[in-house]
Amino acid sequence: MTLIDTRTPNPDYFIAGATGDWEMVIGLEIHAQVSSQSKLFSPSSTEFGQPPNSNVSFVDAAMPGMLPVINEECVRQAIRTGLGLKAQINKRSLFDRKNYFYPDLPQGYQISQFKDPIVGEGEVHLDMGEKIGTVTIGIERLHLEQDAGKSIHDQHPNMSFVDLNRSGVALMEIVSKPDIRSSAEARAYITKLRTIMRYLGTCDGNMEQGSLRADINVSVRKPGGEFGTRCEIKNVNSLRFAGQAIEYEARRQIDVLEDGGEIAQQTRLYDPKSGKTRSMRSKEEAHDYRYFPDPDLLPLEFDQALIDELAADLPELPDEKQARLVAEYGITVYDASVLIADRKSADFYENVAKSGDKKRDGKLSANWVINDLSGRLAKEGLDIASSPVSAEQLGGIIDLISGGEISGKIAKDLFEIVWSEGGNPAELVESRGMKQVSDTGAIEKIVGEIIAANPDQVAKVKDKPSMVGWFVGQVMKASQGKANPQAVNKILRDKLGL
Ligand code: ADP
Ligand code: MG
Repeated sequence: MTLIDTRTPNPDYFIAGATGDWEMVIGLEIHAQVSSQSKLFSPSSTEFGQPPNSNVSFVDAAMPGMLPVINEECVRQAIRTGLGLKAQINKRSLFDRKNYFYPDLPQGYQISQFKDPIVGEGEVHLDMGEKIGTVTIGIERLHLEQDAGKSIHDQHPNMSFVDLNRSGVALMEIVSKPDIRSSAEARAYITKLRTIMRYLGTCDGNMEQGSLRADINVSVRKPGGEFGTRCEIKNVNSLRFAGQAIEYEARRQIDVLEDGGEIAQQTRLYDPKSGKTRSMRSKEEAHDYRYFPDPDLLPLEFDQALIDELAADLPELPDEKQARLVAEYGITVYDASVLIADRKSADFYENVAKSGDKKRDGKLSANWVINDLSGRLAKEGLDIASSPVSAEQLGGIIDLISGGEISGKIAKDLFEIVWSEGGNPAELVESRGMKQVSDTGAIEKIVGEIIAANPDQVAKVKDKPSMVGWFVGQVMKASQGKANPQAVNKILRDKLGL
């Protein structure tokens, strides 16, 4: 791979060292388990959490004479993912044997793709907030390969076990270009890939179950200088650990270099307990694996018609949805990026912001979904799909705010009532007398009382008009939050002569 620097050094990312500023360079290899019922080359089930060695066919156990047969659905999933990454789809690709010994690899080799992967160059866009903006991370390739089994060392004092349930499960290895420049970008990149694959239904993205793992390549350099030697941190399976591992590793490399040392190209492991990375082995080179085309498998070939068919069937992807939400509802790019992170949230939002032909205030709807609703759901550990307040009910609350019938404050109380008791928001406002008071007579009466009861404050407000806020607060309190704040303000200013 020829390394090209596509990024302009950003001082916000610089790391201070004793000899000046440093910049980190990161490239990720993501292993994403393909969503499919059966394995890449065998009919065994891929179901998670089954008893050890129950999802194992003769092919997965590498019995002599068994032959792999490609699972067409896995090929389709890889093409779909490639399309989602706006990548080049290669109509002809090859399966190679990557030879190495491991107790959980009964074949003695992994079937992978080396020189000719099914998917070539693509790109992923990340929203890094207002200051940094949108950054583009290049994709080098995506290839299909088999997963290995699992060695289990903690079940018996002097024996190890091997579970082959994972053996032969299809993985997509997605390799980025070294375009990532901070731990925040690395996390955003993993998150974005996961979102894209979840939209496509090609990988469930479940990091705890190991469906998504990252090998993280980190190097450091003087800003904009030559690329440094990288270390690869293997098999990181949480976003938090990814961030911590990168921060630690970059600092470690800077310290080594500033002490006059050199970085040895290594494979390292991150230990979440100590927060450190440690060396596992010196980095192997491709030639160590003695790659050669698997003689049991023909080249993988398909025609443009298959690509076209899959392309025509793709759902609206996160970037497109984001752009559409901004254009259609007038919300900020940032709000849209939060909403589209999860397809169900985006759908929920659209059902709030639009009901049939009727459009509601897009910004107000976004605030309610992103802040109030999501906050409340997070507190209860609930998914938006099981929200006690439906999109229709939340839309009803927003109608009442927009129509001036309730204040923002009362709306929060109303939301709580709907959350715990259900019901139609408009009817609840009627039956519980929550309507905003815009009747000037009633407000004037309260204002009169507050002014009469607080002569000291009245004397002060003449010199300090900003104190009118205190009066507004008193009137709102006396009206139990129901007085229309604009009307209160106006009447107060009149009566106080401001
Ligand atoms: P390997 O399998 O040997 O690790 P790959 O080509 O599959 O090699 O992956 C290399 C990964 O390392 C890519 O994600 C690439 O972007 C990244 N990378 C390459 N050079 C550097 C570097 N100097 N610093 C950081 N990352 C790098
Ligand atoms: Mg690697």
